[in-house]
Amino acid sequence: MDKEKIKQAVRLFIEGIGDDPNREGVLHTPERVAAMCAEIFSGIGANPAAVFTRLLSESHDEIVLVKNIPFYSMCEHHLLPFVGQAHVAYLPDGKRITGLSKLARVVEVHAKRLQLQERLTTDVAETIMRALKPRGVMVVVEAEHLCMTMRGIKKPGSNIVTSANRGVFRRKAATRAEFLSLISRK
Ligand SMILES: [Zn+2]
Repeated sequence: MDKEKIKQAVRLFIEGIGDDPNREGVLHTPERVAAMCAEIFSGIGANPAAVFTRLLSESHDEIVLVKNIPFYSMCEHHLLPFVGQAHVAYLPDGKRITGLSKLARVVEVHAKRLQLQERLTTDVAETIMRALKPRGVMVVVEAEHLCMTMRGIKKPGSNIVTSANRGVFRRKAATRAEFLSLISRK
């Protein structure tokens, strides 16, 4: 990541919106933003499949679900955050499973990029399909977008819900229904 470039850009941005980049309160803002970007965009260029380095040998062949995975991402259209929860399930192939924290980690790697919620959802599903080769994957993402709530249509509290299903979750309505009943249970 080119921190100098980010600092120059933030200075120009402050000037561009009509504020004074030399004003005391914002004098160090370019550095702060550059340091923050290293963290919130750490998924750019990272390989999300690398999360699954060690698979565990296990004959489990029922749905494995991790729900309410919190994430923070950045809308690529407006550079404003969208924040929410992901629910990620897969149906193992009966030979291998992954550690549960890895599913949350895949969401994180994809979220820490310039994103769209739709792509975040399908990318998480496809990474798991490729890396783990399960019988199926289903991902549901619910999020609030600041570009909708602090500007434009201004509907605070409105959630966007997206889903992606692959493999057996796509083919079988009963498997999708099982997933949906598992995530709706409190
Ligand atoms: Zn947006």
